[in-house]
Amino acid sequence: FANTSRDAALRERAGRVIPGGLWGHLNAARLPEGYPQYYSRAEGCRLWDADGREVVDFMSSWGPIVLGHHHPAVEEAAQRQAALGDCMNGPAPVLVDLAERLVETIPHAAWCLLSKNGTDATTACVTIARAGTGRRKLLVARGSYHGAVPWCSPSMAGVTAEDRAHLLFYDYNDADSVRAAAEAARGDLAGILVTAFRHDMARTLDLPAPGFAQALRTICDDQGAALILDDVRAGFRLHLGGSWETLGVRPDLAAYSKAIANGHPLAAVTGREWLRRAATEVFTTGSFWCGAVPMAAALATIAELHRIDGPARMRAMGQRLRDGLAAGAERHGLAILQSGPPQMPLLQFERDVDFRLGEAFCAAALAAGAYFHPRHNMFLNCAHDAAAVDRGLAAAEEGFAAVARLSP
Ligand code: PMP
Repeated sequence: FANTSRDAALRERAGRVIPGGLWGHLNAARLPEGYPQYYSRAEGCRLWDADGREVVDFMSSWGPIVLGHHHPAVEEAAQRQAALGDCMNGPAPVLVDLAERLVETIPHAAWCLLSKNGTDATTACVTIARAGTGRRKLLVARGSYHGAVPWCSPSMAGVTAEDRAHLLFYDYNDADSVRAAAEAARGDLAGILVTAFRHDMARTLDLPAPGFAQALRTICDDQGAALILDDVRAGFRLHLGGSWETLGVRPDLAAYSKAIANGHPLAAVTGREWLRRAATEVFTTGSFWCGAVPMAAALATIAELHRIDGPARMRAMGQRLRDGLAAGAERHGLAILQSGPPQMPLLQFERDVDFRLGEAFCAAALAAGAYFHPRHNMFLNCAHDAAAVDRGLAAAEEGFAAVARLSP
């Protein structure tokens, strides 16, 4: 699966005109040898790279693809809207249909705002929390990813200390560390930002510990601060009403993007009634934020997720993958660690601190026709059926064999 031919030629040309070959997390230079950078086509849970090689895709575009690539009902809705108009002097009626649908679907939501990317949504949540409370401090979990702008970027290049001046840090799943940070901010605490589960790159995924979500809710209620759920990555995969619905904890503000429109560019902020005025007062906008096509796609995506109970389907297929990986590892005498919700799993090898074994597994599985990721949570989508998962498991077999050859 060497990067010969078209992929290599494109990378070489890109290297001359695009800094680093590609910005951000989709840069394949960070993936094991043999991973393609460029794709020519996608359908359901299958991807074809620029050289025409087909794989079963377990990354789903790093989250946006929730129903499957190129889903017919979503694409039909998008095309129907595109034939009428997309980028106009104001939104199309579909905006109101979608806003009503989101407010109906997400129990804490009294209102919503739409934008394009997860970073737009998390940044708007922070601004609205500050406007609504008249306070400055924000609590963020150490290592959590919330976007690609100075207040939250994982890189400090080009970022000033002032950009981060009002952030205080806690450790995910450590309620005492949240209480301590909230005490330090007392009187000036605007909000607590938290992801649906701990899904930091290159470490084992942790689900919220019992009582953790409730502790955050209590601290926010006690101080009159906003609990902000960053559901950009997990939203619409774990639960259609918001990822903390199963925990019985509702946020004041939530940020969504990725899966909301099955690959079309859209993000949403939802909020409670007490923040409606703040959401009116802050200035949040973008040239493309009223684009109608992604809204039509989102409406169709949410309808389909309800119709087929998407989260349950992805959970079942994720569990099938997890069970098959466990059995495969055992056959090869390999100790593995599987973490995260079944819809968003991560596979690690024990004591593989530098991910050398994980990379060998992924490279061999890719050559055998399955796209897994060694360090980032993967994403099931609703096009994964038992046959697709089993094709993935057959490829994983080659991955385990490669790791067994490396292991002492
Ligand atoms: N929050 C979380 C939890 C995310 O996973 C991401 C994207 N990986 C973002 C925010 C930022 O979203 P975007 O890349 O669409 O700006």
